[in-house]
Amino acid sequence: METLATPELIAKYEAVIGLEVHVQLATRTKIFCGCATSFGAAPNSNVCPVCLGLPGALPVLNRQAVELAIEASLALNCSVNPKSIFARKNYFYPDLPKGYQISQYDQPLAEHGFVDVIAEDAGGIVKRIGVTRVHMEDDAGKSIHDGFKDSDRYTYVDLNRSGTPLIEIVSEPDMRTSDEAYKYLTEIKQVMQYLNVSTCDMEKGHLRCDANVSVRLRGAEKLGTKAEVKNLNSFKFLRMALDHEIARQVALIESGGRVVQETRLYNPDTDETVSMRSKEHAHDYRYFPEPDLVPLRISDAWKERVRTQMPELPASRRKRFIGDYGLREYDAEVLTATRAMSEYFEKVVAASGDARAAANWVMGELSGTLKEVGREIEDSPISAENLGRLIALIAQSKINGKLAKDIFPKMAVANEAPEVIMQREGLESISDEGALGKIIAEVIAANPKQVEQYKGGKQQVIGFLVGQVMRASRGQADPAVVNRMFKEKL
Ligand SMILES: [Zn+2]
Repeated sequence: METLATPELIAKYEAVIGLEVHVQLATRTKIFCGCATSFGAAPNSNVCPVCLGLPGALPVLNRQAVELAIEASLALNCSVNPKSIFARKNYFYPDLPKGYQISQYDQPLAEHGFVDVIAEDAGGIVKRIGVTRVHMEDDAGKSIHDGFKDSDRYTYVDLNRSGTPLIEIVSEPDMRTSDEAYKYLTEIKQVMQYLNVSTCDMEKGHLRCDANVSVRLRGAEKLGTKAEVKNLNSFKFLRMALDHEIARQVALIESGGRVVQETRLYNPDTDETVSMRSKEHAHDYRYFPEPDLVPLRISDAWKERVRTQMPELPASRRKRFIGDYGLREYDAEVLTATRAMSEYFEKVVAASGDARAAANWVMGELSGTLKEVGREIEDSPISAENLGRLIALIAQSKINGKLAKDIFPKMAVANEAPEVIMQREGLESISDEGALGKIIAEVIAANPKQVEQYKGGKQQVIGFLVGQVMRASRGQADPAVVNRMFKEKL
């Protein structure tokens, strides 16, 4: 077990964190050939001479991949360069058949962007994290080290992923805590999903993250030596790995050692980072311009056309929900967590005319039901229109809150409209004074003692009497009307 610094020691230091995030673009075909990008196909079935790196095969850039990369860059507030250059990044690895990755180096697609996050650790202030650059590249294949009966002796290679389009988003070293890094990655994921640029499914490797971490004494200006931590393949691991790495570096420095520049691999089973290799430098890769591809030129007109196609992004939607609907910040955050969620909510508001009630139902009953049946809001068993109508029925006093909660689960069975269930099962609120009058008369006759008490000035007894009417009507009486009628009668 490694020695880790105590929280007291860690508090003397400040961490400096930068993230490199890889996002797989949601194109149907690969970046430089027509092979499908579908996940789960038989090994080595989605391949061709281009993505197998056969001699003489020539790459052709996928236009859709460029458009998605432009959208992502604009959403991250980057300026998109009118000209960018593909470059060969040379290294040898069994799952890299070309012997190089086609990436972008000194002239990337986009630069100088930012992402705003709310820094909880720093008292909830909005913190701006710089985005250094966004560049396009192709993915390598996959080495499979286990799962075969001879896996103790062999590694298998699947090249289906080879040539899948990626963007790499490189941040400035602006983050100071694992929480800020977590928020930054969350925001990136949310934005990419809103844009349909990527599914960002971490389990399938559609969103991957490496971190550069160093520590320095608080107040120091000079940056410490950084280590790169790889394999941060879930949000939970990101936080754990960063906290671990910060504690490791502080312990090392405090015991008189020094941090070496290296690449470390996070192991979630032991919650440790282990040294993988000494850190490579850019010159190790012998970058040079890709001779088989012309420079990528993006006109202002193209950029603007892409910009007009972009949907409203989560940050501005959150603001609008607070401003237009009077939602609390927390509710706005939950209701914009995914594009599907925010669109569902807005449909409920449109159908019900009551944003507060819509927020409560979506975050309460509906979320509970979705969890129960194991579905996402995209295929909710209750349509937004039907939930909106249910809320409208309450507002119109056709049903009360209790009846609405009885009707709600029935709506989930076959997505029936609430009115249909209400009529079929006789679940309407009784606000008809004739029908209520009869029940009230019965309750008055059956409870002479309480009636006397009320008449004698004991106001609170009315609660008991209304309760008797509710019970006699099996919850269908409109309590407001019953209340008023009692007061008139007595
Ligand atoms: Zn191919």
